[in-house]
Amino acid sequence: MSGQSRLRITTEARRTRRKHGEFTCYEFLDVFLRVLRCSLVSCAFLGTALPQAPQPDGAGVRPGTLAAKWITGGPDCGAVPDWQVQPYNEDFYILRESGCTNYEKPFLYLIFGKERALLEDTGAGKSDAARVVTETVAKWAAAKGRSGIPLIVAHSHAHGDHVAGDAGFRALPHVTMVPLTLEGTREFFGIAKWPDSVGQIDLGERVLDVIPIPGHDSLSIALYDWQTGILLTGDSLYPGRLYVRDFPEFVRSTARLVEFTRGKIVAHVLGTHIEESSTPYKDYPAGTKYQPEEHALELARGQLLELAEALAAMNGKPARMAMRDFTVWPQQPRR
Ligand SMILES: [Zn+2]
Ligand SMILES: [Zn+2]
Repeated sequence: MSGQSRLRITTEARRTRRKHGEFTCYEFLDVFLRVLRCSLVSCAFLGTALPQAPQPDGAGVRPGTLAAKWITGGPDCGAVPDWQVQPYNEDFYILRESGCTNYEKPFLYLIFGKERALLEDTGAGKSDAARVVTETVAKWAAAKGRSGIPLIVAHSHAHGDHVAGDAGFRALPHVTMVPLTLEGTREFFGIAKWPDSVGQIDLGERVLDVIPIPGHDSLSIALYDWQTGILLTGDSLYPGRLYVRDFPEFVRSTARLVEFTRGKIVAHVLGTHIEESSTPYKDYPAGTKYQPEEHALELARGQLLELAEALAAMNGKPARMAMRDFTVWPQQPRR
């Protein structure tokens, strides 16, 4: 007798018995277990808020546009502008430094609230970020009919390729530099306990959450913009080589970021470099200036979950691991 016909007969026999109101103990037990399992599953769903929206209508966050293609560094450096300034929307700007200025070609983020603007990072090498940011702020102010706006200069972390333009900002009026020390960063953003608590900065009708994520650097932070649903992850998650200097800290920080984003709308995860090519599992070698086929800047929460999964698979033993859109790269020299 085939398994299928046995199943058909058993099912038939059950139907007949049920019609006559007869149930075996096993069937009662089976029904009881099914009900129990269903309620446990519902509880699990209720307890696990997913980053969902009730309708596919934009999830209530302010939308924007990312560049289809970013400048890299060539092929003719004479024809490449020093900076690409991309308005994501009229109050959120993404700036990319040219690879012709410095091969790191980092991304900077400029976010405007009603009372203050915040800049994340100041560039690499001979960065003249102060000039391009001042121009962008002036254009923003003109469009809003304002004389200007105070600027806060923060950093995704303290590595040289993200702080090189600091000096230019120190010389400017109406600029507050977030101290490049753990205590200074903690105090500025009101982070009660580093790295377990989340801090905040209110730019005026626009709140950013500040999440400590040490591991790539002891000062690494992520920023979550409630207005756009954008999560800025610095060098800790981007399409490229994720250099992990303190592995246990990095694992804990990734887990905290997964927890932080649980139930929140995440429109984009934006980091500070692109080193991956558009070919899955393939990167551009370190030091590449011109990347004609580079990966998109934007990642999603899915890649954050992949990162957490990859780290968990290492079972406490740091190992290089290439994923589709990034590579975990432990114990590399400081950059
Ligand atoms: Zn770094
Ligand atoms: Zn970097």
